Amino acid sequence: MVIITHHRRKCIGCNYCVELAQAYWRMSKRDGKSVLLGAEEKKGVHTLRVGEEALEANEAAAKACPVNIIQVKVV
Ligand code: SF4
Repeated sequence: MVIITHHRRKCIGCNYCVELAQAYWRMSKRDGKSVLLGAEEKKGVHTLRVGEEALEANEAAAKACPVNIIQVKVV
């Protein structure tokens, strides 16, 4: 299983995660930050548990994120 976390408050809305992992991320029209689709929010941290097929694209997104607020962990 892959756990993706997003510290959304610090998102600067650059769109890289959406471009690199389109199945998992969207930009919010409301506040211009990205949204990790289907994630659960707790104290500002959004967490999504998905299968290993999500790994490659989301690792690329995590690497590309200029403010380093995406973490991808294999458990
Ligand atoms: S790559 Fe990082 S800063 Fe850019 S939209 Fe995604 S989460 Fe936000």
